[in-house]
Amino acid sequence: MENIVSEKIDRRKFLAGAGASSLVLVSLGGCGAGQKREPGKPHYGMVFDQNKCVGCRDCRIACNKTNNLPEGVSRLLLELENSQIEGRGYAADRRYIRVSCQQCQDAPCVTVCPTGAAHRDPKTGIVTMDADKCVGCKYCIVACPYNARFINEETKVADNCDFCLHTRLSKGEQPACVEACKYDALVFGDLNDPNSYINKLLAVKDSVRIRAELGTEPSLRYIPIVKQGV
Ligand code: SF4
Ligand code: SF4
Ligand code: SF4
Repeated sequence: MENIVSEKIDRRKFLAGAGASSLVLVSLGGCGAGQKREPGKPHYGMVFDQNKCVGCRDCRIACNKTNNLPEGVSRLLLELENSQIEGRGYAADRRYIRVSCQQCQDAPCVTVCPTGAAHRDPKTGIVTMDADKCVGCKYCIVACPYNARFINEETKVADNCDFCLHTRLSKGEQPACVEACKYDALVFGDLNDPNSYINKLLAVKDSVRIRAELGTEPSLRYIPIVKQGV
């Protein structure tokens, strides 16, 4: 099965699947709509600001290195959204889209996993993997509506972006992609903390979620480029 992390990605299929191609077309919503807020527990989320991303791919390189991923796969997809624009020359409406695991609050991958390998970390609430429990059945991959999971062919274990839970977050560090982005296109933080920068940002910027209508309550937010006159 194809996933978002293949270097040979079928871009049109993925973008159609993720709903990312309609990022600028969906209506803008405020932050936090529909999220389960559990007092006292964190709810980590990430914002991708399309207005700031220059497509440098530093986030992807940092992620692959930090999470020790083999050649040919990655936990995040970064593509030109308006793919008719080729090359690096000036283009007024060049837009990049970054998609990874949406950290659903109601995560189908966790629901279907028969062994508990795909699970929600009890402390942080982040959807992550227990590699020792994974039997490679791919149920989670099939269940993910964002096509955001894949099998790491070296470890034979299913994988997804878990905000660098084990490699950085547990040490009090920001996710590798956020740390690597020189253009401030990525913001990570606790959506349950009213004083967090991510909450303050979302309070003043309109944002969207990809395929929110599915009801999985994704924790990633996108600040889309709004075309003038639209
Ligand atoms: S590092 Fe930042 S600017 Fe570069 S591609 Fe990633 S999100 Fe975009
Ligand atoms: S995006 Fe896919 S892999 Fe990530 S939590 Fe949702 S269902 Fe699971
Ligand atoms: S949060 Fe970590 S695992 Fe997720 S895309 Fe960023 S660098 Fe990769």
